[in-house]
Amino acid sequence: MNIIQKVKQGATDAAKLAQNKVEITKYKSQVASKEREVERYQMLIGQAVFLSFQAGEPYPVTSRTTITEHCKVIVHLQKDIEALEQQIMNLKREKVCVCGTVISQEAYYCSMCGKKYIGFK
Ligand SMILES: [Zn+2]
Repeated sequence: MNIIQKVKQGATDAAKLAQNKVEITKYKSQVASKEREVERYQMLIGQAVFLSFQAGEPYPVTSRTTITEHCKVIVHLQKDIEALEQQIMNLKREKVCVCGTVISQEAYYCSMCGKKYIGFK
């Protein structure tokens, strides 16, 4: 690679890195927004549980239905958050080891538990 090619490659890499940072910021903002939604639904569940408590045992069926529906929304939001976090990791060229440590996608070993990743693309 000659000097001009190197400079061009450097500029391309820098542009790609800047674009990745924009994407990461966008995904992080979406994660934060969805986490706030999760908290809101958790609060609504709490209110529904309390209203059920006030209404006395057995809990009214309507409250149970409401609680179940809110729980389903939270599960859906958590799946969205997981997918967004995976996209962020891909942009950062990272992966999660079986031990939970975040390592580079190019790593041959986990620096925490020593698991081998030889042959990993
Ligand atoms: Zn590990």
